[in-house]
Amino acid sequence: MTDPVVTRFAPSPTGFLHIGGARTALFNWLYAKKRGGKMLLRIEDTDRERSTEPAIAAILDGLKWLELDWDDDVIYQFSRAARHREVAEQLLASGKAYRCYATTEELTAMREKARAQGRTRLYDGMWRDRDPSEAPAGMKPTIRLKAPQTGETVIEDQVQGRVVWQNENLDDLVLLRGDGNPTYMLAVVVDDHDMGVTHVIRGDDHLINAARQKQIYDALGWDIPNMSHIPLIHGPDGSKLSKRHGALGVDAYRAMGYLPAALRNYLVRLGWSHGDQEIFSTQEMIDAFDLPAIGRSAARFDFAKLENL
Ligand code: GLU
Repeated sequence: MTDPVVTRFAPSPTGFLHIGGARTALFNWLYAKKRGGKMLLRIEDTDRERSTEPAIAAILDGLKWLELDWDDDVIYQFSRAARHREVAEQLLASGKAYRCYATTEELTAMREKARAQGRTRLYDGMWRDRDPSEAPAGMKPTIRLKAPQTGETVIEDQVQGRVVWQNENLDDLVLLRGDGNPTYMLAVVVDDHDMGVTHVIRGDDHLINAARQKQIYDALGWDIPNMSHIPLIHGPDGSKLSKRHGALGVDAYRAMGYLPAALRNYLVRLGWSHGDQEIFSTQEMIDAFDLPAIGRSAARFDFAKLENL
């Protein structure tokens, strides 16, 4: 028997519930329902400056209005910072990570040099094999992953197919900042692992992060969840979706009087199609939904079509 499916929606609470986020939530919800599994909700509030209470409320309200219910209690990422630190320490102890004492000036110089040489690996590894006793007194280090220097990192993505990165182009990631706070990259891996997430379904702007996260999974000896990176939504003219294409927040559609079922029906068909059928009942959507059927090209948000619903 295969493990029960666990998906998650993991918004950063920095604004309203964007229709792109709502579509991601819907795809996670449909997949979980289809496979008799769970969808968890994780609020990624580690960025303390940009995360706000009104944004959290808007996300929870928007999901409830769309009738996209989540399982178990909401997980707040910031509350797990001690666990993230513990995993970073574990990587240090196993020699898979190291303390980096490079100064801001040194890092800037490294970046400039790498850019001038056309390299995407920006950090030159100066503290990789250096003895921490050489560290400047009183300086708080960052903790970096000792990323593989050669070979490839491969993601078998349900939507994008097999995606390959050359390790020589990927940096030794920062896992913990000098102030002891985890980076997004570490927090996501630890949380997805601890929450038992089996399927990550999110926007393809996170595809490069999947490669970086795979390196963290490998260093920890953990299995990476099944990945699906869905194309972002564009406007009808093919450009990145912006305000001039219409309202971007779920709350605006709610205020205009759209029914949640109509918006769900519209959102599901952005990037996912099932023959010529245009209107689906919730059960039909659950039954027909599948990840490989999501196209690789950007979906187009057409306000005019939505108005006809
Ligand atoms: N918090 C991220 C975002 O809102 C998503 C992270 C993820 O799904 O892994 O873009």
